[in-house]
This record gives sequence, structure tokens and C-alpha cells, in this order.
Amino acid sequence: MPNQTVSPPTSPIATQAGETLVKIANVNKHYGSLHVLKNINLDVKRGEVVVVIGPSGSGKSTLCRTINRLETIDEGEITIDGNPLPKEGKALAKLRADVGMVFQSFNLFAHKSVLQNVTLGPMKVRGKSSAAAKERAMELLKRVGVDNQAEKLPAQLSGGQQQRVAIARALAMSPKVMLFDEPTSALDPEMINEVLDTMADLARQGMTMIVVTHEMGFARRAADRVVFMADGQIVEQNTPEEFFSNPQSERARDFLSKIL
Ligand code: ADP
Ligand code: MG
Repeated sequence: MPNQTVSPPTSPIATQAGETLVKIANVNKHYGSLHVLKNINLDVKRGEVVVVIGPSGSGKSTLCRTINRLETIDEGEITIDGNPLPKEGKALAKLRADVGMVFQSFNLFAHKSVLQNVTLGPMKVRGKSSAAAKERAMELLKRVGVDNQAEKLPAQLSGGQQQRVAIARALAMSPKVMLFDEPTSALDPEMINEVLDTMADLARQGMTMIVVTHEMGFARRAADRVVFMADGQIVEQNTPEEFFSNPQSERARDFLSKIL
């Protein structure tokens, strides 16, 4: 009897995985005479976790900020899900919601409760009802382990808790991609892991993530790809295994010798 050919099952996730979600093509940016991003090309696929590392001043934060248009670019193109970044207005607010960002400083609204911090955006930008926003916010606060702090003000929480609230706030907008710019750099050492663990969970659940960090342990365990930047350029990129065991450039070797 001839072998039956069985076509593989097509699930929505299987067909989506591998698509480019964030495309950064030939991007250049200057601050006056400083060429801060030099012809950056980077494609991030749906579900991929890209960790960006490199010395201070190499342009990592600037690159992050161009992706949700907190900074403009001089040349090149950035697209999210095939759409060029909008310049202003409602479309820009929607883009910012699609691209969640978590900064080094937690940037929570100081005079709003933890819960309000998470519900405001979905109500204003996504048009959610108060009840729906609240329900989703409580789910997310639970997921990052701070649901018992919902009625407090940010200042009453530890740095690690505040940063987890910031993650929940970004997630509440149902972003397509999450950007993290040194999210643990301002934290006391004992709080770093609780935030990294939250991020690693998110990565495991399939979130597309671009993470700037000096936490090489996180890069090793959570990254699909490590991108090494120096002096405004992507100098090399590789899987974490390859990058850490066999860096190709002198600059990457030098950087690793200083931090590992
Ligand atoms: P990184 O995040 O890798 O430390 P940044 O993207 O913050 O690097 O900065 C890259 C370079 O751009 C640095 O030399 C920095 O001083 C400069 N820079 C950053 N922001 C500005 C700005 N708003 N105006 C002028 N120069 C800036
Ligand atoms: Mg930076």
C-alpha cells in the first residue's frame, strides 16, 4: 500500500511564526554632528526575542526610541507589521500602544494608583470600558505578581514591583512587540531577578521582544538572538550560544572581557 501523504496541520501560530514583525532598514540618525545610528538593518520576527548589548553610548537607547517614534530618523525606514511608523495624531498614539516600552526609570504616573496606571491607556487609546479595563488590569497585575498592590500609589512599592507594574501597563495595551531599555539597571540587586523572571515568562509565552540589557544571564537564557552594537553600528549578531562562546569581532571580545 502506498504511503499516505499527510499535510502538516496549519495552526494560526505556525503560519504567523517567522514573519517579520519589526523591520528596520538602512536607518541613519544624527544628533547634530554625531552620527548616532549608522545604517542599521534589523528584522525581528514575530515571537522572537532579540537582546541588544553593547558599550554605553553605542546607540542602543536611541535605536529603541526610534521604534516607537520617540525619536525621528534621518534616513531609512522602520515598519511594524508592514506599516511604516505614523508621524503624528491618532495613528501615532495607536503605534505607541502597539509597541510597548519599559524604561530604566519606571515612568509610572505618580499620582495614580497601580490599578489606574494599568487601566488608563486601554480606556483612552483602545476605547475599553472601565469594567473591561479593570478586569484585564487585575489579570495582568496577577500575572506579574503585584495584584495585591493594586490600590497603592507607585511610591509605596519597591522598585522591582514598580517595574513589574510598568510591564503590566504596557501589556494592557495588547502590544505587538515589547521594547525594554535596561529595565533592571535602576534596581537594587535583590530585585533584578524578579523583573528578569517576569520578562522570561513573557518571552516563553511568545511575546516579540527587543531587550537592551547588561544582564548576560538573561541574554543566555531568553534570547533567540544577541545583537552587539558599538559606535552606532550593529557589529555582529548571533545566537547567544555562538555569540558568548565565539564572538567574531575584536570589539565584542573586548566588551565581553570587561563585563563577564
Ligand atoms: P546607549 O543607550 O547605547 O548608551 P544612546 O542611544 O543613549 O546610547 O546614545 C548614543 C549617543 O547619542 C551617545 O553619544 C549620546 O551621548 C548621544 N545622545 C543620546 N541622546 C541624545 C540627545 N537627545 N541629544 C544629543 N546627543 C544624544
Ligand atoms: Mg541606553
